[in-house]
Amino acid sequence: MLIFLHTNATAAERAELRHALAAEGARGPLGALPIGAGDVIGVDAAAISELAKNRIAHLPAVNHIIPIKTAYKLAHIAANPAGTRVKVGNVVFGSRGMPPVIAGPCSVENEEQIIEAAKAAKTSGAVMLRGGAFKPRTSPYTFQGLGPQGLRMLARAREITGLPVVTEVMEPGMVDAVAAFADMLQIGARNMQNYSLLIAAGHSGKPILLKRGPSSTLDEWLSAAEYILAAGNPNVVLCERGLRGFDNHTRNIFDVTAIPALHSLTHLPIVADPSHGTGKRSFVAPMALASAAAGADGLILEMHPRPDEAMSDADQTISPETLRDIVQKIHAMHIALGRPTEDEISDAATLPIAQEPLSYVFPE
Ligand code: PEP
Ligand code: MN
Repeated sequence: MLIFLHTNATAAERAELRHALAAEGARGPLGALPIGAGDVIGVDAAAISELAKNRIAHLPAVNHIIPIKTAYKLAHIAANPAGTRVKVGNVVFGSRGMPPVIAGPCSVENEEQIIEAAKAAKTSGAVMLRGGAFKPRTSPYTFQGLGPQGLRMLARAREITGLPVVTEVMEPGMVDAVAAFADMLQIGARNMQNYSLLIAAGHSGKPILLKRGPSSTLDEWLSAAEYILAAGNPNVVLCERGLRGFDNHTRNIFDVTAIPALHSLTHLPIVADPSHGTGKRSFVAPMALASAAAGADGLILEMHPRPDEAMSDADQTISPETLRDIVQKIHAMHIALGRPTEDEISDAATLPIAQEPLSYVFPE
């Protein structure tokens, strides 16, 4: 269940709630019972009697309770029906306004390349830069990324263009190092169910771009997001990047339906990645437009100043000119569909999650 606290609940009232939940054997995420300074807590209520739930609902700290039967609770739409907005610098995902476009190469290759790409991304209408420094490559013989050097180059590209940067982190031990340079951390498809990485990302204090695992259901994906939320980080953006299919005409099966489906299941923003979703340059524009039409809260596109020379994912990498064309069409489509302009957008906020990032209070 989700317990919504009164924003002005005192420490003593919160403690009373904690003791009541502990006495009922209630469990919060990760087997603990977290009650921090925030205002929404997720609890597995399976073992709690209706009578006890009723008693808990009437404690002074509690505003209201919503029963949630799904495996994920904080990620559930009921936790924040107005929709969560995630801010990365001055870029906002989930505003319902013009969807922000993130663009840049698959990999950071050298300083000149990433700076050139960042400038091209900016002049083509993208508002954020992507680029991998740590690359999860299928073959150990292919380019593995520049590592920490690549992070410094991304920071330089940000300094020059002002574009916030998203880049992948592959292991829990590297979260702090990547967070020191990046504005947003990407958890790649292959790592969607790396739970220690999800928890470390939850403790990082940075917005997280959580890609969908190549064969994950929506429930598995939302449960992965729950790990990050449960660890105290409300700033999660989901990224649809395609699923493993049986047909080799495309690299993956790009699940456009996941976008409206997720909007009915979760309050978290959803970004579409038609580059990995299709694996083919010529399919990126049509699927980018389809994603925007389906209600994507943003796009992430692989773009390189010389796409054929990209050291990874060249086949799916578009040129700056194609990027510009996509951005223009998305803007035109947004207006044609009568979607809200910047001054009409609602004021939904980030989910005020009641977790303390590093400490859990175990029931006695
Ligand atoms: C990437 O963004 O370059 C990447 C490796 O993506 P994914 O994890 O979706 O394959
Ligand atoms: Mn890539």
